[in-house]
Amino acid sequence: MLTQTPKGTKDILPIESYKWQYVESQIAKVCANFGYKEIRTPVFEHTELFQRGVGDTTDIVQKEMYTFLDKGNRSISLRPEGTAGVVRSYIENGMSSLPQPVKLYYIISAYRYEKMAKGRYREFHQFGVETFGSKGPSIDVEIISLIKQLFDSLGLKDVGLNINSIGCPICRKEYNQKLMDYFRPSLDKLCGLCNNRFERNPLRIIDCKEEKCKTITAGAPAILDNLCEECSTHFEGLKKGLDNLGIVYNVDKNIVRGLDYYTKTVFEFISENVGTQGTICGGGRYDGLVQACGGPSTPAVGFAIGIERLLMEMESQGVPIPPQKEIEIYIATIGETSDTYAEKLIYDLRKRQIPAEKDLLQKSLKAQMKYADKLGAKYTVVLGDDEVKNNRAVLKNMKNGEQAEIALDNIHDEIINRR
Ligand code: ATP
Ligand code: MG
Repeated sequence: MLTQTPKGTKDILPIESYKWQYVESQIAKVCANFGYKEIRTPVFEHTELFQRGVGDTTDIVQKEMYTFLDKGNRSISLRPEGTAGVVRSYIENGMSSLPQPVKLYYIISAYRYEKMAKGRYREFHQFGVETFGSKGPSIDVEIISLIKQLFDSLGLKDVGLNINSIGCPICRKEYNQKLMDYFRPSLDKLCGLCNNRFERNPLRIIDCKEEKCKTITAGAPAILDNLCEECSTHFEGLKKGLDNLGIVYNVDKNIVRGLDYYTKTVFEFISENVGTQGTICGGGRYDGLVQACGGPSTPAVGFAIGIERLLMEMESQGVPIPPQKEIEIYIATIGETSDTYAEKLIYDLRKRQIPAEKDLLQKSLKAQMKYADKLGAKYTVVLGDDEVKNNRAVLKNMKNGEQAEIALDNIHDEIINRR
């Protein structure tokens, strides 16, 4: 136990972490081009925030949250997703008085007590975007196009986009009646949770993963066929906007998304490579959320991408990831004088952005050279007392074996000139 990570968590080791850094840097670049600024919120929040913000009819809140009482007897939960915390921050920091729309992004760890499966962990990571203050479909198009540009910049191809609309409280009220009429005769065949949903939020029944419920929901009326005029115009605007950018999508009447607060647009990016559910990204509009959490009525739209699944997709598609910066020069030393000299030398090289290493284990010269080779150093220099005294040394190119005598105090330029 002591030497194992808790179930559902894992270390990100150096052989993987450079890939994360690469993805995160691409995210930051794309977000900057789109005018999105980073927000960082706490890993834990008051449990009520998620009950309200994610919705207490969701699986996340009902089954998956890491909730505990802190020493002050407050109910605290680890964030199961990023939106609720950002909405809390938007309200708490009075962001409604900033120029609108407010465009934010985050890269976070999130926590859900889930059954383990491929691409499904208990600690996982999300890149998400939230925008506030714009109600028309063009910002929905903008965030989808941001995802498209991120995928393009990572070299990903053919990640399917499904879109749908789940209407607003006005059209959903009428639709809910239709749904209830549809489900009422089969209530005894639906799972316990769906019976509960039937009373509180029948639309969520459509999202149930239980086989017996899926069979029944297959014939249920679709919200997309029951939109009010405003919602249907919004959906047309979304499709037109995507068409205009040449972004290919598929309308899927069955996406309702797991979260309670969605209105109008919902969308997913999916791929077979990332596990059973196949979702890389889920997003949509949640015009009612800010108000439901105690803020001013504010339209909002966002998404979250699972970074583990994004990396799985990159791996499956075999997209190239730039390698880690290699050690450029290894200074091998013989004796104390040269070792002291080398200490200062690598300090100066590093200061000038040249990755440099020297021996730290008092290895023999032979062992040092072997180590330099393992590190993949491009150049080596062997320093003995003579080299230090005469300020001359032999710079060896490890890739092609070329050797050149150089002035030691000019080593930086010698390396830079060879790049
Ligand atoms: P799923 O259908 O896979 O359960 P979800 O609907 O619960 O996903 P969201 O809450 O919309 O997912 O989260 C957005 C994204 O976060 C998902 O599309 C997925 O990429 C990622 N994600 C969600 N849960 C996990 C998890 N347990 N492990 C890894 N990634 C996850
Ligand atoms: Mg889930």
